[in-house]
Parts: sequence; C-alpha cells; structure tokens
Amino acid sequence: KLFNELQELKGNIRVFCRVRPFLPGQGAPNTVVEYVGEDGELVVTNPTRPGKDGLRQFKFNKVYSPAATQADVFSDIRPLVRSVLDGYNVCIFAYGQTGSGKTYTMTGPDNASEEDWGVNYRALNDLFKISQSRKGNISYEVGVQMVEIYNEQVLDLLSSDNTQKKLGILSTTQQNGLAVPDASMYPVTSTSDVITLMDIGLQNRAVGCTALNERSSRSHSIVTVHVRGKDMKTGSVLYGNLHLVDLAGSERVDRSEVTGDRLREAQHINKSLSSLGDVIFSLASKNAHVPYRNSKLTQILQSSLGGRAKTLMFVQLNPDAISYSESMSTLKFAERVS
Ligand code: ADP
Ligand code: MG
Repeated sequence: KLFNELQELKGNIRVFCRVRPFLPGQGAPNTVVEYVGEDGELVVTNPTRPGKDGLRQFKFNKVYSPAATQADVFSDIRPLVRSVLDGYNVCIFAYGQTGSGKTYTMTGPDNASEEDWGVNYRALNDLFKISQSRKGNISYEVGVQMVEIYNEQVLDLLSSDNTQKKLGILSTTQQNGLAVPDASMYPVTSTSDVITLMDIGLQNRAVGCTALNERSSRSHSIVTVHVRGKDMKTGSVLYGNLHLVDLAGSERVDRSEVTGDRLREAQHINKSLSSLGDVIFSLASKNAHVPYRNSKLTQILQSSLGGRAKTLMFVQLNPDAISYSESMSTLKFAERVS
C-alpha cells in the first residue's frame, strides 16, 4: 500500500533509508542520528559540530529506525514484490558502506532463523505463496539466477563446476529476455529450494579470497528471480523479474594508500556505483538519454530500470559517529537519486 500510494506521487523510484542498530560490543557509542520521522524525515548531526549548526535534514520515502524488524521492512515492500507476478520488472538494491547492513537487509544475518530472514527469502516465500493461491487460474514457473560482478566481470555464482567463467551480457528489451543468458538458471518451487541455491551462491562467492566478507564488500551480487505466468483460460503468458542486489561497499578508498589490486577494485566499484547513480538520476529527472552502457551493473539491470519497471533503493546507515563522513556521502548519493 505504501508503495502504491507513493507511486501516485512520484515516478517509479523509491528510496528507503535504514539505520542499523549499534552492535553488541560497540562500546558506548555516539550516534549521528538525531531524529527519524514517520514520513521519511531524517536528521543527522555532525559530531564535530554539536548544536544547531551541525544538523542536516534529509527526506526519503521512508526511514527505518534501528528498531525496525525484518518483518517491518518487508511488509512495506510486499506489494512491490508481488507486482512481479503481474508482469512487472522490479529492482531492489542495498547501498551503503561496508558494515552498514546491506547484507542484513537483503539476506539476513548468518544462519538466520525465519524471523531474521532478509528481503530475498521473504520475497521468494511470498511469491510462492501467492502463486499457490492463484493456482488453477494462472500457472507460474519461477527460476533463479545469481551472479556477481567483480572488477567489471560477470561471474556465475550458481555454476556447478566452479570455473569462474566470465559471462557476457545481452542487451535485451524483451520482457522475457535474459540479460545474462549463460548464467545457470534453476527452477525453484519452494523456499527450501531457494535456501539451498543461495547457500551455493554464497559459497561460490567466497572462492579465491581469504574472507567472505572481504570479497563480498568489493563485488555486487545480483539474485534474479524470473517469473513466467500462464493464464489457464486464455493461454496468454506474462513475464516478470525481480532483481535483488547487494551492492559493493560504497566507502571511498584513499588513493594515496592503496595500490595494485585494491586500487583497481576501488576504481571499478566507484565507476559502477556512480553509473548506477547516473542512471537512476536520469530516470528520476526524466532525461531523454539514460546512460545504461557505462557499467556492467546497469547493463544487466537495464530492463528493470526505467519504463514500467519499479526501483527501490535501500540506503543503509551505520549510526556510529565515527562513520559520519561516509554516512554523509551515502546520504548525498541517496538525495541525488530520490
Ligand atoms: P554490509 O553488508 O553492509 O557490509 P552487514 O549486513 O554485514 O553489512 O552488517 C554488518 C553487521 O551488522 C552484521 O553483523 C549484521 O548482522 C549487523 N546488522 C546489520 N543490520 C542490522 C539490523 N538491522 N539489526 C541487527 N543487526 C544488524
Ligand atoms: Mg555485505
């Protein structure tokens, strides 16, 4: 409902800001979050400028305080997810610096119980439920792909042979077109199928790096859910897809401090995040030219960004005063696209 209400006010792009809680063991922290309003207002304070002068106000479609649960968040985006079954293309992103809660929002914590499930599992679960309830009228088939973009290379996270083969992207405007046709696609019929697949994807993502978190903070992961629905009476077929994107960490890297591989990674991340920002900004400003071609990320997501497609960006914040300047750059990115 929230999404549809907002839809009438603005185009197809939403920005929801989520402030994660302080973690156990974070000491006696100093927060930058001054105020979270019911209608998407967020006030942050500059820790080096106490008082009125250090306050900055932002306005998003929605802001979640640290107390918001996974269920709270999902209940606001459920209509968006469900519209995939009606033939819409939907993209949901999580943007923010490493440690700000992107993976928590999209996937959940490690070894999550059902209550802690993130958007990915809840979305698939919901799609299965609804498609069951429409059985007899519409017969749905659901398939899942999972790829990673690392250094502007597209890798299949669900390949069985683990070759880390680089995949090509097809430019497609067809509703049933696959942007990455060579990425493995698995049919799924239950949430447990999805959990099994995502586990494989997460394991593959860890290949070739010392720590999972390290690699995952420097690559984008995209889970794509393809839905095909056949009307049992008329025989007509509709297609929809849902992209669930856990972006690379948005933190700026000090060029004077990194070299070699780290510098290259940082440059690729920078380029793709700014390309994403440019695409969303162009769409939000209704520009005639939308620069999809500037990154692999925007090429893959092209059919789900713009047109009838619906886009939601979660902007994640770490409330710690130490993260103030990163949080400000995150908020400025979000402000530009909202
Ligand atoms: P990112 O993916 O942006 O690097 P994570 O999702 O890994 O960040 O979050 C960093 C840490 O904070 C993890 O331990 C995660 O479980 C925890 N965390 C993030 N958001 C929340 C939240 N809303 N509630 C509880 N813990 C959270
Ligand atoms: Mg993460």
